[in-house]
Amino acid sequence: MMPSLMNDREFPVYRVVLDPGHGGRCKSPMSRHGDRYNTLSKTYLDNFKEGASFAGLEENQIVYDISLRVRRILKNCSPDGDYKKFAAVLKKYTDEEPDRVNIVTSLSRKKSISDAEADALEDPNAGYRLFDYPDRRGIMREGRLSKINSLRPNLVVSLHLATDGPSDYIAMNPVIAAPYDFLNEGLKYLRREKKGRAFYSNNRLGDWFCESHRRSDFEWFLNDVSVYFTGCPLEKDRSVSGKFKGYRHNMVSWKYTDNRGWESVARFHQENTRYSRNYMDVVPDGRFWDRERSKYEKYRRDGGEEGFGGDNAYAAYEIIRYMLFSLYKNRRDYGAMKTGKPYISIWIMPVHVNAINAYIEIAYLRRRRDRNILATSKNELAEGIAVGIYSLFSGMNPRKEPFTYLPKGKKIDMRKYDVSDGRSYFDEADD
Ligand SMILES: [Zn+2]
Repeated sequence: MMPSLMNDREFPVYRVVLDPGHGGRCKSPMSRHGDRYNTLSKTYLDNFKEGASFAGLEENQIVYDISLRVRRILKNCSPDGDYKKFAAVLKKYTDEEPDRVNIVTSLSRKKSISDAEADALEDPNAGYRLFDYPDRRGIMREGRLSKINSLRPNLVVSLHLATDGPSDYIAMNPVIAAPYDFLNEGLKYLRREKKGRAFYSNNRLGDWFCESHRRSDFEWFLNDVSVYFTGCPLEKDRSVSGKFKGYRHNMVSWKYTDNRGWESVARFHQENTRYSRNYMDVVPDGRFWDRERSKYEKYRRDGGEEGFGGDNAYAAYEIIRYMLFSLYKNRRDYGAMKTGKPYISIWIMPVHVNAINAYIEIAYLRRRRDRNILATSKNELAEGIAVGIYSLFSGMNPRKEPFTYLPKGKKIDMRKYDVSDGRSYFDEADD
């Protein structure tokens, strides 16, 4: 094949959003500068999360920097890019010539802002919030989730750093959202329709993220099951707490929000409806819950190449393997050259976009070897991410080198996300 003689339109085009960790600033008061705007109470439910920082290093700046480098590399495989240059990068990773695809890349946010810049702005977090929010005149604006969905991407790559992590979370860790069926098993358990915890302990997902050590992973799982179905967390004794975390799917502009005026019904939290506060009688019905049970969400979040976590987990692990492969090829062994275990919960980003979401904690700022890799190898990390993204769409045979964490190189079958004539599940999210 001679790609240079072919019209670019003959190559499939995929859309990617690079979503660089956090951005914006945590400022008080929360009533003005928060995130997680709850349209029922018309208040922010959370302080704005500006991300990890340690010893002068800031997550939001580093992941933004890496994202720009990824975008620069991927530009060469965009429809008007210099594909020869991109092919030269691929040659480092494979002996074959992978099928040509075109990738159009965007970023989910603007550059990071400093404290000084934040102080000068009326709403420094405009453009950085995850959920929709009112501007100073009270007009609702789109948060990052809504913006991402309106770009209708096939893949969202969320890049994060943490300050520190639990001791069993070393190397690079995927962040994945459990599928409906598993959460529904938890609901049945809470309702005593199910005896025993085998459904949990015999499942790769049964290693839930612990918010703190005050509860076991299983109790945190039950807490998150309650939050997922009702918006309400649990007390330690599993009674329903008075706190409310919002109806997250109604805090995003997309196809799956409840019908206009839902707030006037929801505020009564009537028993045996989808707005009940109690997991015992909540009824998960309506567009969002149909989505959660759909086959497309199973593809994204269940089973798949890794045996769990669906295409989201596979995409995250592949990109991690390509990053590690890139470091290995450039002789940048950092003592934690392995794929780490996943953080499993009901995370916001992977639940509330229709795109495949590769969400990765790349490094921990308190760990010296991780800081070294960030300081010396941003280009290598970016190249691994870019090649990994390409491989997910095109498929490629990585060169067989004596490296334990070789990427699988298998492409994701995107056709299974087709909804109807030329329309895909990724297009569906956009309202
Ligand atoms: Zn983060």
